[in-house]
Amino acid sequence: MRRVYMDHSATTPVDPEVAKLLMSYYTERYGNPSSVHSFGREVKDALEQARQQVAELIGAEPSEITFTSGGTEADNMAVLGTAEIMRKKGKHLITSAIEHHAVLETCEYLAKNGFELTIIPVNEEGIVSVEDVAKAIRPDTILISIMHANNEVGSIQPIAEIGKLAREKGIVFHVDAVQSLGKIPINVKEMNVDLLTISSHKIYGPKGVGALFIRKGVRLAPILHGGGQEKRRRSGTENSPGIIAFGKACELEGQRMVAEAERIRKLRDRLQKGILDRIEYAKVNGPVGDNRLPGNLNVSIRFVEGEALLLSLDMVGIAASSGSACTSGSLDPSHVLLAMGLSHEIAHGSLRFSLGRQNTEEDVDYVLEQLPKIVERLRMMSPLYDQAKYCKAE
Ligand SMILES: *Cc1c(COP(=O)(O)O)cnc(C)c1O
Repeated sequence: MRRVYMDHSATTPVDPEVAKLLMSYYTERYGNPSSVHSFGREVKDALEQARQQVAELIGAEPSEITFTSGGTEADNMAVLGTAEIMRKKGKHLITSAIEHHAVLETCEYLAKNGFELTIIPVNEEGIVSVEDVAKAIRPDTILISIMHANNEVGSIQPIAEIGKLAREKGIVFHVDAVQSLGKIPINVKEMNVDLLTISSHKIYGPKGVGALFIRKGVRLAPILHGGGQEKRRRSGTENSPGIIAFGKACELEGQRMVAEAERIRKLRDRLQKGILDRIEYAKVNGPVGDNRLPGNLNVSIRFVEGEALLLSLDMVGIAASSGSACTSGSLDPSHVLLAMGLSHEIAHGSLRFSLGRQNTEEDVDYVLEQLPKIVERLRMMSPLYDQAKYCKAE
């Protein structure tokens, strides 16, 4: 059976060149980068090269990169670290309704522990308005955390403008850029960002590695205490194989980004058009124009359950997702789709395809061959669909 992976927003395969490098730092160059002997020094040098490779992809200085165990840790570090160091100045935090749980849950944890939280809504395309952010700012606001691109609907946020606003008011600005890294250009200087989260396994690097960009001069309390690695910002022996592999993955993304984005956008548009042409009552969620990640396609298909669609697709070898990987398995509809104003019923019948490096036109055509058949079969069992047909006939 053909197997088609269209869940790259959940994770990606490790690039073969990156995997080779990764292995060599497990078996041959295994020194602890903090050790003074040659085993340690050679790893330390490679670690610093990785820092440079990561910094380059986001327009930062190497000294502004702190490695973490992934996007979740970097998000926690940004939010908790800012809250702790700024608590004397103020207790008010601003975030958006469509953030990843790593930001939302961390902000909500703080809101239960003495901080105050404003959650900015989004419009029907899943985009935050700069004006809403401006209106939410108070004299005691210490942190604004808004993601660059959303993981479910691919909406790209007006980061540079929000950053300008935060800079004028002297508020720390954190951006979760896990989904946009390697897909669209990122420049922390042009975007006026103070803290920026990235993760390796969404860009063909290994899992369990990420980084937080901390702009020079921005202070942050550490959340892990111990040996004082990463300039005392993140204690714990560095995951040197993972970090070095992440560096390589960033270098490769930098080289491939422009051409890949173009190729993947075309595939996505073919898939989108094919679905809309072949399936009645299907609607795209997220921005319709260029304000969307090139590989993202989120569709609501009425009169079917998203979970049933996923299982049926899986039976013919197609991997997609409903909402985010973290919420699939639970039956709550996606908080992102609800924030965009979708009803519970429609949010439930939503599917996310996220295309990536190994997808081909044949993959898209295979999905277009299978999905309409699956939808038709599931709708035959849906009483709501009968009603809809009946109303239309009237
Ligand atoms: C995947 C993801 C994360 C979490 O990153 P991990 O490295 O898996 O912990 C955070 N934010 C967004 C937007 C993501 O897509």
